[in-house]
Amino acid sequence: MANIQAIRGMHDILPDQTPLWQYAEKTIRDVLGNYGYSEIRLPVVEKTELFKRSIGEVTDIVEKEMYTFDDRNGDSLTLRPEGTAGCLRACLEHGLLHNQVHRLWYYGAMYRHERPQKGRYRQFFQIGVETYGMASADIDAELLFLTDRLWKRLGIRDKVRLQLNSLGTIAERLIYRDALVNYFEQHLDALDEDSLRRLKSNPLRILDTKNPAMIDVVKHAPELMDYLGDDSRQHFQTILDSLMDSGVSYEINTRLVRGLDYYSKTVFEWVTDELGSQGTICAGGRYDGLIEQLGGKANSAIGFAMGMERLLLLLETLDLKIENSVDVYLIRVGENAEKVGLRLAEQLRTDIPTLKLQVDCAGGSIKSQFKKADKSGAKFALILGEEEVAHGEIGIKSLRDAQFEQQTLVMSDVVNFLHINICA
Ligand code: ATP
Ligand code: MG
Repeated sequence: MANIQAIRGMHDILPDQTPLWQYAEKTIRDVLGNYGYSEIRLPVVEKTELFKRSIGEVTDIVEKEMYTFDDRNGDSLTLRPEGTAGCLRACLEHGLLHNQVHRLWYYGAMYRHERPQKGRYRQFFQIGVETYGMASADIDAELLFLTDRLWKRLGIRDKVRLQLNSLGTIAERLIYRDALVNYFEQHLDALDEDSLRRLKSNPLRILDTKNPAMIDVVKHAPELMDYLGDDSRQHFQTILDSLMDSGVSYEINTRLVRGLDYYSKTVFEWVTDELGSQGTICAGGRYDGLIEQLGGKANSAIGFAMGMERLLLLLETLDLKIENSVDVYLIRVGENAEKVGLRLAEQLRTDIPTLKLQVDCAGGSIKSQFKKADKSGAKFALILGEEEVAHGEIGIKSLRDAQFEQQTLVMSDVVNFLHINICA
């Protein structure tokens, strides 16, 4: 019988990959902490209606990417394709939006039925950030500072670029939409099938096309920037000034419209040229209208989501040496040594709570145990044979420093030795 395999597009993260993930996750948590953001934990499954109402019916996600199923009572449920809707649902449900300001983040798996390829999977991890109750452009700037700081701390600032645009208010966008439809209607021959469909349902999405044959027609389309009112213009300019002021470089990309319906004013993406067409590692924007759309009182909201797999692909290009290693590896040879060694290891972990100590529990010759000790990344091997046990002693060998002579210590001196040589 053939072995059962994982679902296409859903990947295991194996033990040799997790240290880099943990490093990235910790760095992100640290930076979020620097700005006073709090974690929120949300369900992986929500009512299908939530995503239809928030993301919008005419979007790639709702039209063709959702994992939707009926549960046993016949309710339609969906594995979350993104976190914004669920986060807002939770905050409305628990009354967190009433006269309050929030800076939140969440982390977890998202699900979209897309064609799997490098940087695009059916299960992928996102770090999402959502803020509520702040209308000022300072919070828009803060999110950009925060992400800029994160790239610097991870050492990838020179691999990413910030692209910004303003989508204006919903009213401004409606006027622009008419102008855009008018323009495309005069160039129907140049539109592909997807775009012809979107012309009726969501014409702004045509600007987002990845079809090279349409570059020209899109390039000459009217620009939303020319349709913004004073308030939207001022909001955008304030962000640009703050970025200039702090030396964060950016590019204005007037074609950046984002896939989702709910954005207004600021939208942004951090993009890289190193991952082929899956070049967006972080994307977000302001979505002031969504809270009302989900039944809450009008309120401000802005956030972003970062794709962890794409971030990890970028980090892998740095060749960082981040491995899961231990400090000490205990080699035991002989029945008495096994018994005494197991007890000793427990005692050492009690005496030195930060110690990372691995005991060889698979046995084998001393040579094969040394091989495993070396692979464990440990600095020192402790060696316990029948002779050492008989004398109440233990051998110590450095696995990294050839100058260090192998020693034999009285068992009671081991704690002291490790304190000085490992935990100091
Ligand atoms: P794309 O244009 O690449 O499809 P998107 O606009 O659908 O992206 P968002 O919904 O804004 O993406 O999600 C935010 C981030 O999550 C993306 O910038 C990307 O880094 C990551 N992401 C989105 N979809 C996937 C996926 N299928 N696999 C891996 N990462 C993804
Ligand atoms: Mg997508």
